[in-house]
Amino acid sequence: MLLYIHVPFCRRKCRYCAFASGPYSRKGMQTYVDLLLQELCFWSERLEHPTIETIYFGGGTPSLLWAQDIERILTTIFMRFQVLPGAEITLEANPESANDTTYLQSLHDLGVNRLNVGVQSLDSHLLAILGRLHTPDQAIQTLDKARTAGFTNIGLDFIWGIPGQSLNQWLDQLETIARLKPDHLSCYGLTIEPGTPLERDIQAEKIMLPAEDTQSAMFLEGSALLGAHGYDHYEISNFCLPDRHSHHNTGYWQGMDYLGVGPAAVSTISHNRWTHPHDLESYALSLQNRQLGANREVLAGSTLTNEQIMLSLRTSKGLGLDLLRAHRSEQEAQQLDCLIESLCQHGLATIKDAFLGLTPEGMLVSNTIISEFLIQEAN
Ligand code: SF4
Repeated sequence: MLLYIHVPFCRRKCRYCAFASGPYSRKGMQTYVDLLLQELCFWSERLEHPTIETIYFGGGTPSLLWAQDIERILTTIFMRFQVLPGAEITLEANPESANDTTYLQSLHDLGVNRLNVGVQSLDSHLLAILGRLHTPDQAIQTLDKARTAGFTNIGLDFIWGIPGQSLNQWLDQLETIARLKPDHLSCYGLTIEPGTPLERDIQAEKIMLPAEDTQSAMFLEGSALLGAHGYDHYEISNFCLPDRHSHHNTGYWQGMDYLGVGPAAVSTISHNRWTHPHDLESYALSLQNRQLGANREVLAGSTLTNEQIMLSLRTSKGLGLDLLRAHRSEQEAQQLDCLIESLCQHGLATIKDAFLGLTPEGMLVSNTIISEFLIQEAN
């Protein structure tokens, strides 16, 4: 099972963000850590001390946790769950709060063995458009300090398609980063979330998104550039050096069970899915009343298969042809074979070891391709 710990606080809301996070205070964080420990104890009992393969601190801004908070959380997890030896333990960090060798050294000593840094851009103007708090220098310093602190598995997150961003800026930045050889890179196309300040600025035509063909070139040329530097484009938004893929996220894409703790966290265990209340107060109340996980959705039949199709086709490894053909009539299976042949002929997909995987060109139009493979509910 994968374990996700949500940390729902940030120093300031970024201008594009629709994640579940609120303003940070030290007092609020301390109270929250107490709730997290209670929830961890609740699930260890309820699930009878399950085996944990990966632990992921996500947010929000988990690097606002003090080392002593992380120690309390990890101690509880190791006492109450069966954590596999060598389990991947990732913490998402923002440069403005993690740019400190002593802090990073403490995390490393506590057993955090993978750091994922939210860099987003190395251009101060673009960082300002996104409403990020850090500077490009702080981002690079965080990478250096993490290495000094002993981290040997470091991922950096970037965003492409930012208003005002050019193709050259994106590729030059990737070139700079690739030369620094972080173990992992996540490159997300900017999503304009409804109701965010960024959306309002775009609607008011104060700023403009790059043209669609520029965005396509950012994705495809970025993928080729990173490939030339030895990075495997192993998922639509993710690249890694050999053997440095995220075990936690790969587990999600492979359909492993996962337990999420904290407000807005989602869990899926034995095909049962539930989501915690989004606001902290309702979450705390549900925890107190032992109602967390009470409202479950059971995933079955075509819903389950479709989810597996959607998740697997995000990865370059892709989806087993046997699963793709499952639950289809003979006629549908024939249509499917025609579709697969056409995708391969057009360079949008390849078949390797009986798995269908999308090429970068296919990933660019993955939503359209995936929708062609989904089983219609009426079936
Ligand atoms: S740091 Fe991340 S979670 Fe926090 S406001 Fe910015 S984008 Fe949202």
